Amino acid sequence: MVVDGTSDLAIEPMVHSFGDGRASSVDRNLLGGKGSGLAEMSRLGIPVPPGLTITTDVCNAYFSDQRRFPSELADQVLLGLKQIEDISGATFGDSSNPLLLSVRSGARVSMPGMMDTILNLGLNDETAEGLANATGNARFAYDSYRRFVQMYGDVVMGVGKLTETDHDPFEVILNAKKSARNIQHDTDFSESDLRELVVEFKELIVLRSGESFPEDVTEQLWGAIGAVFESWETPRAVSYRSMNGYSSDWGTAVNVQAMVFGNFGNDSGTGVLFTRNPSTGENRLFGEYLINAQGEDVVAGIRTPQPLLRESGTSSGGNSLEELMPEVFAELAKACDLLETSFHDMQDIEFTMQQGKLWILQARSGKRSGAAMVKICADLVEEGILSQSDALNRLDPNQLNEMLHPVFKQPIEHEVIASGLAAAPGAAVGVVVFSPTDVARLVSEGSDVILVRDETSPEDIDGMNLAKGILTARGGMTSHAAVVARGMGLPCVTGCNDLRIDYKNSRFSIEGADGTLVVKEGDVISIDGGTGEVILGAAPLMEAVPPAEYDKIMTWVDASRSLKIRANADTPDDARKAREFGAEGIGLCRTEHMFFGSDRIHSVRKMILAGDNVERINALEELLPHQREDFTGILRAMSGFPVTIRLLDPPLHEFLPQSRSEIEHLAVALNISVTELTSRVHALEEVNPMLGHRGVRLAVTYPEIYEMQTRAIIEAACDLTSEGVDVEPEIMIPLVGLGSELEQLRALVQETATTVLLERGCAIDFLVGTMIEVPRACVVAGEISEHADFFSFGTNDLTQTTFGFSRDDVGKFLPDYLEKGILVSDPFVQIDRPGVGGLIVQAVEAGRKQKPNLKMGICGEHGGDPSSIYFCHSIGLDYVSASPYRVPIARLAAAQAAIEFSI
Ligand code: ADP
Ligand code: MG
Ligand code: MG
Repeated sequence: MVVDGTSDLAIEPMVHSFGDGRASSVDRNLLGGKGSGLAEMSRLGIPVPPGLTITTDVCNAYFSDQRRFPSELADQVLLGLKQIEDISGATFGDSSNPLLLSVRSGARVSMPGMMDTILNLGLNDETAEGLANATGNARFAYDSYRRFVQMYGDVVMGVGKLTETDHDPFEVILNAKKSARNIQHDTDFSESDLRELVVEFKELIVLRSGESFPEDVTEQLWGAIGAVFESWETPRAVSYRSMNGYSSDWGTAVNVQAMVFGNFGNDSGTGVLFTRNPSTGENRLFGEYLINAQGEDVVAGIRTPQPLLRESGTSSGGNSLEELMPEVFAELAKACDLLETSFHDMQDIEFTMQQGKLWILQARSGKRSGAAMVKICADLVEEGILSQSDALNRLDPNQLNEMLHPVFKQPIEHEVIASGLAAAPGAAVGVVVFSPTDVARLVSEGSDVILVRDETSPEDIDGMNLAKGILTARGGMTSHAAVVARGMGLPCVTGCNDLRIDYKNSRFSIEGADGTLVVKEGDVISIDGGTGEVILGAAPLMEAVPPAEYDKIMTWVDASRSLKIRANADTPDDARKAREFGAEGIGLCRTEHMFFGSDRIHSVRKMILAGDNVERINALEELLPHQREDFTGILRAMSGFPVTIRLLDPPLHEFLPQSRSEIEHLAVALNISVTELTSRVHALEEVNPMLGHRGVRLAVTYPEIYEMQTRAIIEAACDLTSEGVDVEPEIMIPLVGLGSELEQLRALVQETATTVLLERGCAIDFLVGTMIEVPRACVVAGEISEHADFFSFGTNDLTQTTFGFSRDDVGKFLPDYLEKGILVSDPFVQIDRPGVGGLIVQAVEAGRKQKPNLKMGICGEHGGDPSSIYFCHSIGLDYVSASPYRVPIARLAAAQAAIEFSI
């Protein structure tokens, strides 16, 4: 045999067939979700009309060869078409018994922005007449024909609305005809109306596109196939892919399928259903149908659909499918059961009846609410359809969040005025306020408040904490507002670019198609942090109550995981919340947030701006009781669990006064002139604060700060121990890069602690460790571990310092990196495994070599990110620490990682 150099030995067919109980492939990546679902159903013996699927590879070939179809494609499509004709007994383009087709797009994931389906392809003046004769139903034939011309004109020939506010030109013609005939519904058109509509639609197409509607059925088919491929590159599809991190190499498949007709008469119809209730998870069919209708008529709402199930106790008038067509209904219910047990999940199904015969046209896993997800998962295990670990693997960790926050009642009837990034889930309603101080004032007057800012910064914390939700015009998913809001469990929308905030006049405006909308301080808005929507007025809320199965599922989760889950919490309230969500300790308690409290910021400033050591120590003495109280609260709330307390970390200038009046007030307290104070403030300014005088470096210069904090921690621990509270403090020194830094500071902490313990005559077990957050620390981790009882990887800063990216400015260029494929994901959301992850692995190995029992975990945003949690499990960390509201997500993600590793 001679093999020429260019031909491929194992050639994958470009076209796969399905129907009549068979399918030549069910490969999802090749056939797309819709195609593989149809193929699987065919194999299961479920009635699906026969068809063929052109693979996603062909889509890629089309685009890489200047939008030309591969030369072998036409023959393979013909072959597939022949099979459809054989099974259906009709012939494509035949004037006496024409086969009609649907042409449907379908990528491996369901994707809005793809091409609309074309139904009834293969009709022209001749075949329409043939169909009328063959079926003895001319009205049906011309109803199908007018639908086809309409869809083909719109989807393939681009005859549609001219502007956003324009009406669909085909609908305009339809409506004109309805009023001329004085009828309400399209089912009331007569055969001759429909014939006229076909002519009028064709005229519209010529007028608008300059081309005539193709009468040649083969030309129709290739026009439709080309349109499906083209839709892969429409701006909507492209932006949806980039938003969801889907690759443009996936391509779309094209499904060409024999038509079945729900518009044949009153023994025909079409419907959609979920095999279980998608909001509650209740195990009962959920759906609706329309008699004498085709395609998307049900979804489009052209008539009010009828219920599937007999509604007990209501006067639905006996028009449910269960009552009207009991046999079809029984067959449908049986198919649903078979689909669920075969696909091991709740299904979303499209079906059509033609003259009392049932056809299934699509089945896929149904989208569901977080609550339904939990209930369905528990039920499927109970019903023996899924194993426990398979069930846990199918849960979406991020969707657990939905259940913990209040939600808007759907559908939202109020006006959506803008949208931004869905930065922190949940729904909030409140009056608009533009400054954190005003938040405090209005909240004290009893109002619910939404804080609206260009962006937020650390000094806004108190105001943010009191608000019901945060809306920012700038910033991304990891902006200060987003991170803090997630930590606080506050709904938050960031990057809402359409907002023009006018702080001076306390209002924001949005330019819209019909003018400028102005929202003033005190006006009520609603924000949905789960969708990014901003809504005018108060949209009705409901408390999200976890379904009864939640606890059951979480018991399975906890039994499956080995990673411990801690929370990042700075206050006793957060700590209690975290415990409720199942946290097993605090992985990061940031002391700087305590310094911002209104009762101590003044002492903090005195400490920072002190002229000498004595002044500084005096100020620190003022702070000591406050700090002791903070630590007492948090250690008490976490009784029985470890609490990692990070000593002061940020550069001092962050605490300094900004306004003239604050500066004057402080000058008096420090007994110096305003000029002197201003110059001290300037002296603290830094060119690169992130890389500046902060973390352990502060304590090298001012050891008395860490001394005071250590004293406060140990005193609190002694007090609590004497009350019988079980405390496990872990003192953490931030930003260490040198073994010698930690050696000195550890000695300081130890000495201070020993002094306090002696004073109190008390014995406490505590740990001293460090945060690993600069690359040098990872490289010399062995040396550092000699002075550490634990390592906590501060992955936020470690990502900043490894990349040299400033997290606060990354929004300016990260989108370009993602779009150009230089980075595949945001490294501040998902740990960058090769770089940052590589450094962590190096540190883990060096640390463990030196000290096999060194405790190790991560804190930072990544601790709540499922893919990063998977990584932490894989490298053998002891725990991850996430914000309180993400603790359940982290528990589930840790279980999923453990399950995947054990397979
Ligand atoms: P989408 O991806 O938007 O759901 P589909 O291709 O599933 O698009 O179909 C659009 C509509 O057309 C659905 O209501 C579907 O049931 C109907 N449809 C698709 N193919 C056929 C067919 N061969 N016979 C009858 N109806 C069909
Ligand atoms: Mg569909
Ligand atoms: Mg840090």
